Amino acid sequence: MDPLSRILGYGEAENFDKRVEVPPPPFAPTTVANEDNQESTKCNQIVRLPLSGIIEMSEDDVRQALLHHVERFLCYGKKAVKEMVITKMDYYSSYRYTLETLTETRSVGWAFDSYAGIDLDSRKCGPPPDPWEIHVRTPDSFETRITTSQVPVPHTEYIQMCHFCNETGRITCNLCRGRCKVDCSWCNGFSTTGDHTCVHCTGGKVKCGQCKATGVQRCDPCLGTGKIVCYVALFVTWAKNFDSCLIEHSDIPKDMVKKASGTLILNETDENMQTIEYFQDSNINRDGIELMDKHIARYINKGKPVFHRQKVARIPIVRVYYSWKTFLGHFWVYGTERFVFAPNYPQKSCCGCTIN
Ligand SMILES: [Zn+2]
Ligand SMILES: [Zn+2]
Ligand SMILES: [Zn+2]
Repeated sequence: MDPLSRILGYGEAENFDKRVEVPPPPFAPTTVANEDNQESTKCNQIVRLPLSGIIEMSEDDVRQALLHHVERFLCYGKKAVKEMVITKMDYYSSYRYTLETLTETRSVGWAFDSYAGIDLDSRKCGPPPDPWEIHVRTPDSFETRITTSQVPVPHTEYIQMCHFCNETGRITCNLCRGRCKVDCSWCNGFSTTGDHTCVHCTGGKVKCGQCKATGVQRCDPCLGTGKIVCYVALFVTWAKNFDSCLIEHSDIPKDMVKKASGTLILNETDENMQTIEYFQDSNINRDGIELMDKHIARYINKGKPVFHRQKVARIPIVRVYYSWKTFLGHFWVYGTERFVFAPNYPQKSCCGCTIN
């Protein structure tokens, strides 16, 4: 019977090339004891952070932004920007909510090492642990570069005949391929150099130095012992998963706001996923929970979560009302870049030249 299929819980790994994925334990919110010593769900705990970093724009700021915008178009005049009377500024916000999770997946497969005659950690030492019970050092943060790790599963070692050399400890010499002779390097196997017979070889051949003309060499996988130690290896992989949504409160086309940057008002990393339910704007709370549900369905059931990071960036938007001559209009300035959306700018020319 092939011992590779005998180990309980690892039986499906039948050969050295095959890896079997081990599904993670079912995802469950972490529970912690609160001050009253009653269990509460940590996922439902509220994390409160101040809504800091809100920078509103002044009248000068929006006029300057509009001027930069107008300067990009040959057929837009600047006079309207300079002369317009700003009558009202309404402040809005859009929010970009991002959720990242570092997930861990595990698979098992057979591996081997050469046998050095040391004591084995075999099944006699105890039953092999469940693949998810084995401690593996996880990355410290999202920024850690390590993405894979391989560790032996305890109590799975056993000795097997080396399949590379059929237990002989020797394999055919890979230089002379068992012929015991190789081409002479002085004459490149031609037996002559110019008009002279090569004095270093016989018929262009010399004895193989690698196998000392025996035609065989030591089998490296078993170090010549003819035996290997097989064991189950646990392969751990970490992956970063990302979801994002834009929470809108303005009448600017969504595609435009998508390109704008905002000010970070929440940036949290935690082992547990916690909903953000405390924003005054209920749309953030609602859309945040929706995205979290989607994120869990998409990633968390396939890999065990290690870290979560959630960010909320506030994208400032201001709608500016103005009058210029008899024209009443409005435009928007948005994002920390102060992009401008002014579809009804009054001083446009159709001829393509600049009007001043
Ligand atoms: Zn061998
Ligand atoms: Zn050889
Ligand atoms: Zn020669």
